[in-house]
Amino acid sequence: MCGCLPPARTEPAVPALTGWARRSADPANLIAAARSGDARSLARLVSLVEDESGELRRVMKEIAPLTGHAHVVGLTGSPGVGKSTLTGALVRVYRDADLRVGVLAVDPSSPFSGGALLGDRVRMQDHATDDQVFIRSMATRGHLGGLSWATPQAVRILAAAGFDVVLIETVGVGQAEVEIASLADTALVVVAPGLGDSIQAAKAGILEIADIFAVNKSDRPGAQEAVRDLRTMLAMASYDADDWKPPIVSTTAATGDGIADLAAALDKHRDWLIASGQRDLRRRGRAREEISAIALGELRQRMGELPGESRLDELAGRVLAGDLDPYSAADELIAG
Ligand code: GDP
Repeated sequence: MCGCLPPARTEPAVPALTGWARRSADPANLIAAARSGDARSLARLVSLVEDESGELRRVMKEIAPLTGHAHVVGLTGSPGVGKSTLTGALVRVYRDADLRVGVLAVDPSSPFSGGALLGDRVRMQDHATDDQVFIRSMATRGHLGGLSWATPQAVRILAAAGFDVVLIETVGVGQAEVEIASLADTALVVVAPGLGDSIQAAKAGILEIADIFAVNKSDRPGAQEAVRDLRTMLAMASYDADDWKPPIVSTTAATGDGIADLAAALDKHRDWLIASGQRDLRRRGRAREEISAIALGELRQRMGELPGESRLDELAGRVLAGDLDPYSAADELIAG
């Protein structure tokens, strides 16, 4: 089991931040430091997720009462539509409103930690020196269960550190884009004119999960058509009177045009989520996913940690010999 940890001591009081806190690896100190704005402590906490550290147990226990405030936005869309540029532009709008913003660029395909990747996200460099903005590339292809295991925990940490908005952006392609949206309060689907992008989005199942559409690169030919395509597709869906109807916002992330409108649409969706009770419903669903992902990761790890002549081997032998069926073997394994 992961139980590499000693049982947590009786709740340590969160100490006031001092310089030594930064040097101390004690989770309580890291959390206190992160909450008062120390980016390095925060980075170390997020690294615990990436490293699948056993320390996470204690971290999560301590921050449990502190989370929940941040509005979590998942940005999704095909590579090249301008997600990263749009994220940078949104960060600017939020900073102008004096909000603290966390950005997680998650790469579900990479097992390596984020340094090099972060270097690539040049469009974020505007914000590199702003200590109210935390930007982190995170690799999530760990042993314990990837995106659905790692992302919610990193989001929890950012929320506990007091960020008002957390933007999650996927780097890379594929089904992960849909998954990331389900980890957010608001799913922002970004499309761009040309390449039948809006159609692709529909195919990938992204349309169903979109709360807001941004048609980026509005300065490019075909932007109006892309808006029209989306409108047509949305018109075919049926909504109840109380349902949220996804707005379509035209943006030019490169110049900042339309970004204030986009931020306003995000605010409106957050307000709707809260007023309608949907935010709690969604978060409850996410907590269920999160618990499942942790439990499955734990199970996988326990199975992997068993020595060569393990229970699993023994059960496999019995299945092979026809003494046991694989379902009963799985039951025995879980029960054990
Ligand atoms: P991502 O892969 O979805 O994160 O896309 P990027 O943010 O990396 O952007 C891809 C390319 O599109 C870059 O060269 C951007 O400079 C460019 N780009 C982003 N937004 C706009 C825009 O609004 N208009 C135009 N013309 N180009 C843009």
